[in-house]
Amino acid sequence: MKLFCTTYDLALHHPFNVSYARTPSGSAHVRTIVFAHIEQDGVTGTGEASPSKRYNETAETVQKFVYSLNASSLPSPEDKDTFLPAIGAHAAANTAAKCAVDMAWHDWWCKKNTISLGKYLAEEKLPLTGTNVTSFTIGIDELAVIEQKVREAEEYPILKIKLGTEYDEKIIETIRRVTNKVLRIDANEGWKTKEEALEKITWLKGQNVELIEQPLPADRDAEMPWLKERSPLPLFADESCGRLASIEGCAERFHGVNVKLMKSTGIAEAVKMIRRARELGMKIMMGCFIETSLAVTAAAHLARYCDYADLDGAALCENDPYSGATIARGKLIVPESAGIGAVLRV
Ligand code: MG
Repeated sequence: MKLFCTTYDLALHHPFNVSYARTPSGSAHVRTIVFAHIEQDGVTGTGEASPSKRYNETAETVQKFVYSLNASSLPSPEDKDTFLPAIGAHAAANTAAKCAVDMAWHDWWCKKNTISLGKYLAEEKLPLTGTNVTSFTIGIDELAVIEQKVREAEEYPILKIKLGTEYDEKIIETIRRVTNKVLRIDANEGWKTKEEALEKITWLKGQNVELIEQPLPADRDAEMPWLKERSPLPLFADESCGRLASIEGCAERFHGVNVKLMKSTGIAEAVKMIRRARELGMKIMMGCFIETSLAVTAAAHLARYCDYADLDGAALCENDPYSGATIARGKLIVPESAGIGAVLRV
């Protein structure tokens, strides 16, 4: 087996600003993606890492992780019961790096067996919801730019609005002058106290808002039961929900979880997270980072088992190297060709 990486600079239409990562306007807006490739028996599987500083990963740490795996000492990819556990057990953290290898394995396995990832996942017998409408994200920006972005997102029926600023109300008022669409709010840990969060959520309740994601910093999780008891809108964990082990705690603090492949270490553990969240009666969102259509397509195969999809990561980019799942008027159309189903554009 050959296991190797390539990198790709993914450029965004607009700088992507959230509460804890705001860049001055005019700054570069490129994210370096690392692809992991598994080659065996004439079949190549490819997976993706979109490393995030919030989770202490960079393109360099991802490549270091993948090359430290030493392909010759890994179990054969033919042996699905030992290959992925060996990746998971190799070093702590590195969740996006592990995701790249997990995704490459799933792509390889499904191509080798001539089945789509969708068909492979159907074997898991997770309850189907059929969710296929994705929200479109509006990042933090100057009000005039936010207004322009909302107009550009006309085809999307649901918008996800990044808040956690000193001018949150002005952002919502600006958007409400343009559209009455359903909004999902992502504070990205930007509200500093539970009282501030409750005040903002109570105001947002009257603004046709459907849910609130990550109102408080993840290190203030202990205050979340207080907020959950009082919040007039459902609360979703994103930064507070990493891997499978975090799901139980999230059930006490939130109404739902945002599962993302880059946090979960990939597809195999995301399936376990969806199953556990369901057992605990939680709502589930399938989300993504800024990613190419390769990783977004992998996640789109899982969205049909979730309640909400937030899979616009590739739609925010201007040089997506893959074509895979497409979005038509907000609806995800997921390919069922062998493997993940994303192909390199020529
Ligand atoms: Mg989020």
